[in-house]
Amino acid sequence: MESVLQETKFLMKKYGITANKSLGQNFLIDDEIVAQIVNSAQVSKEDLVIEIGPGLGTLTARLLEKAGKVVAIELDDRMLKILTDRFRIYDNFELLHNDVLKVDLKQLISANKEQYSHVKIVANLPYYITTPIIMKLLEDKLKVESITVMVQKEVADRITAVPGEKYSGAITYSVYYYAEPKEVCFVSKDNFIPSPEVDSAVIHLNIREESILNLKDEVLFFKVIKASFMQRRKTLLNGLLNGGIVSNKEEGKQILETLELPENVRGESLTIQQFAEITNMLSK
Ligand code: SAM
Repeated sequence: MESVLQETKFLMKKYGITANKSLGQNFLIDDEIVAQIVNSAQVSKEDLVIEIGPGLGTLTARLLEKAGKVVAIELDDRMLKILTDRFRIYDNFELLHNDVLKVDLKQLISANKEQYSHVKIVANLPYYITTPIIMKLLEDKLKVESITVMVQKEVADRITAVPGEKYSGAITYSVYYYAEPKEVCFVSKDNFIPSPEVDSAVIHLNIREESILNLKDEVLFFKVIKASFMQRRKTLLNGLLNGGIVSNKEEGKQILETLELPENVRGESLTIQQFAEITNMLSK
């Protein structure tokens, strides 16, 4: 097989493709990293793989060799001809021309569930919408086993941080609620054409089968998290107050007192269980 770099250059030249920055197009050109993504996703012939943003089809080609079926969702119409030409010999390839945020993934999964017992999501994500995509995949409570994606290094650090420890942010708690995250590998910006401004990392999210929290109100839990991190460097108390979670300072103070937390505590030093306790105290 050609190297990913040769393949990328060849396809870009043949089809006259220049990367579209506004679509977050940074094509992966390192064979080793492509292999690491596919291996860490542990794809097998029993799996339906949903790939977001196949681009020139670099990951897609390797996924098709291992998966039962690959459904690729691509927004850029210039890629459609490339992908169709490249993968026409595969009967386990399906291409959706759409914005991933608009695709009914639940329906897509349920249409394939008779044939494929496991669903895995794999992608080199477009960076301008990394967080909305990850949150949509999790919040939709899709019946998927894992999500293996390339994201900016900074986002990877937040997602894989231990809640309550260094680098924790709203996304740390939100992702941790749904999944067990881990960083697979660091990826320097030199491994892409064109080279992005920042380095990246591959992360693997193992979706939890059962909730780790005993929540009275899940919607409120996410509101509490959002409010607590709305203004970074502000105290948790101010976040809860400004976010309308508590109606006055006294109510907020009482909650902190019950949890034996200091009045000036910040959101990022709480454990996920402490956020669950706050939620349960507030839910009537
Ligand atoms: N998978 C290729 C690779 O690894 O070289 C391309 C990855 S590139 C970082 C992101 C891809 O996502 C591009 O092909 C881009 O056109 C596509 N994309 C951007 N926004 C999208 C969206 N909202 N829905 C689906 N695909 C999108």
